[in-house]
Amino acid sequence: MTRRLFTLALVFSLLLCIAAAGLWARSYFVRDSLRFRGTGRDRNLLSSAHGEMLAMTFFDDPFFEDTYAGGVRWEKDNVDDIFGDWLLPTAVPRHAGFVYAHFQTIYLAGNGKPVNCRAVAMPYWFPATLFAIAPLIELRKRIRSRRTNQIGLCPKCGYDLRATPDRCPECGTALIPRVAKPC
Ligand SMILES: [Zn+2]
Repeated sequence: MTRRLFTLALVFSLLLCIAAAGLWARSYFVRDSLRFRGTGRDRNLLSSAHGEMLAMTFFDDPFFEDTYAGGVRWEKDNVDDIFGDWLLPTAVPRHAGFVYAHFQTIYLAGNGKPVNCRAVAMPYWFPATLFAIAPLIELRKRIRSRRTNQIGLCPKCGYDLRATPDRCPECGTALIPRVAKPC
């Protein structure tokens, strides 16, 4: 049961890694934006472009009526189109590609008027690498154990143990015999 859950978690991790890598590649060609309403006149934006994911909340947006058309909207734009939302890269400091601004005033393109927002951004390499770690460790483990099992190599140093199945003459590792010997 535990083993099964572990495998399931590994598969899930691998899928997330593939999804992150796919969105990462896509983000250089297409700018995806998901817009939905927050409380009151707050407006939310989830965006993907130029190798990063961005989540923003515009507090009490003075341009709510101009910028929000209702419901949950997904838009696909040219990645290099500069809209007000994408002024963030210059407005908020980054640390290794990460952004966290709890309350920041930015100036929207077009009218140049200020709007307060919260912004969180993350480069795609981060989730892609993070979700690749566990599957890669498991893969390495499986390849290794298969190799050592198949051809009778020392699990520690890889020395050929066909002549000395009880102890590795190279590194001294004691081995449990695969077949119990008669006394
Ligand atoms: Zn050895």
